[in-house]
Amino acid sequence: ATETEEKDLVIIGGGVAGYVAAIKAGQEGLKVACIEKRGSLGGTCLNVGCIPSKSLLNNSHLYHQILHDTKNRGIEVADVKLNLKQMMKAKETSVNGLTKGIEFLFKKNNVEYIKGTGAFADEHTVQVNLTEGGETSIRGKNILIATGSEATPFPGLTIDEKKVITSTGAIALETVPKKMVVIGGGIIGLEMASVWSRLGAEVTVVEFLGQIGGPGMDAEISKNIQKTLAKQGIKFKLNTKVVEGDDSAADVKIKVEAAKGGKEETLDADVVLVAIGRRPYTAGLGLENIGLETDNRGRIVIDQEYRTKIPHIRVIGDVTFGPMLAHKAEEEAVAVIEYITKNYGHVNYGAIPSVMYTHPEVAWVGQNEAELKEAGVKYKIGSFPFSANSRAKTNADSDGMVKFLADAETDRILGIHIVGPNAGEMIAEGVLALEYGASSEDVARTSHAHPTLAEAFKEAAMATHGKAIHY
Ligand code: FAD
Ligand code: NAD
Repeated sequence: ATETEEKDLVIIGGGVAGYVAAIKAGQEGLKVACIEKRGSLGGTCLNVGCIPSKSLLNNSHLYHQILHDTKNRGIEVADVKLNLKQMMKAKETSVNGLTKGIEFLFKKNNVEYIKGTGAFADEHTVQVNLTEGGETSIRGKNILIATGSEATPFPGLTIDEKKVITSTGAIALETVPKKMVVIGGGIIGLEMASVWSRLGAEVTVVEFLGQIGGPGMDAEISKNIQKTLAKQGIKFKLNTKVVEGDDSAADVKIKVEAAKGGKEETLDADVVLVAIGRRPYTAGLGLENIGLETDNRGRIVIDQEYRTKIPHIRVIGDVTFGPMLAHKAEEEAVAVIEYITKNYGHVNYGAIPSVMYTHPEVAWVGQNEAELKEAGVKYKIGSFPFSANSRAKTNADSDGMVKFLADAETDRILGIHIVGPNAGEMIAEGVLALEYGASSEDVARTSHAHPTLAEAFKEAAMATHGKAIHY
């Protein structure tokens, strides 16, 4: 049966971009519906991304610490055992709690949740293939595309999510692999390498570039974290490309060679993780029915107000430009609703933080040294090691550093790069500083509680503006 009703806004995709936009639209009094096909809200991030990966990162870290780092703290532990099934259950509990929470927020904010797959019938109509069977169609004065992204496959390897996996398989393995090869040393590769190496797998990360961490990570910080991860047991092959993979036997064979050509080598693994990036997802959306095209990387093209060439159809999140991050999608979601309701919205793309949740964590905001050099900007550096921070030393968790980059002339902060315990929380202060156009002196003259890790942040600012006290 086909029924057509009209909403102020129809959102396709209930990931972070779509669900936040839906709630915000409800708050603004719009009649809004959100179509999601996966059976639960929250998209990649809540179901198979940010949240489940952080559950496993947190609990695998605890396990690893209990195994290797308790005796000197005066804690004697006997009989430590991994219960992987329970660890996965704990992960599922967090995911279910949070995705159900969004359903509650939908009700609270009068958002209609439509379970099904949406496709454009025309410029104002979305045809929905309902999950429970049947079809419906829904008209929107405005339509928002928030269909997200998917893992980029590796040519020649068939993803079965058991032996050859993406991050989706990597958060759901039933046993700890003996040997795991990770193709791609970006954020997904390193977070998942951490989880499985802590749980006992022998992990080798193969990275095409000369440094790990993916786009944006400062080279000095990247070297620093690589050293620590190597100490934890992860092996790295940098400047190395995967030439081909063979998954026809029980073990997967991965042929690699130096990126610039040269020596070949074959790596054996019982599990191979493909983590070479993600690509926009628009399959089955019917873009061709309304004449919308994607660029050479699959992104739907938009203007600064998130509009496609059809002005009432807008796009946000992973499926369009910018870093593929949940909090970036969230900022855009609020801004796009403000554009629709008030003709004004704002996202500062220069102040979106990045965090890698390894141990220690890596976090940064603004520009790195290579980017500043390329832009011809003169800058000064101030850094401070956690080994000189009283709290980090007391916690016996003092690998890493804080690094400030500030304009050589004006002292305005241009970038902040942290590798260290709790870097992901600490970077929030850096984002605020950048957002408000602070100088390193502003931060250096701000009181930070003692004894906290945040004092390392202040001292790095002091080192940029003048001199640190404790180093
Ligand atoms: P998505 O979350 O992908 O949501 C899109 C939704 O649209 C999906 O649920 C999909 O089912 C639905 N959909 C698609 N097409 C249709 C259709 N035609 N009809 C109906 N529904 C449709 N980011 C961070 O900031 N921090 C992290 O710690 C982090 N960790 C991550 C870990 C992993 C393993 C991965 C893979 C990603 C991680 N990310 C992280 C990235 C983050 O998940 C994404 O940036 C974020 O989910 C993007 O949100 P989105 O709404 O644009 O897309
Ligand atoms: P990425 O772009 O961060 O890293 C991919 C890495 O793979 C790069 O370093 C690249 O040089 C390398 N690579 C590409 N092709 C290769 C090849 N053939 N052989 C060897 N190496 C190769 O992508 P990702 O790690 O897959 O993550 C995808 C997206 O998800 C990113 O945008 C990331 O920001 C997001 N994400 C974020 C978080 C977080 O915020 N903590 C966590 C997970 C994922």
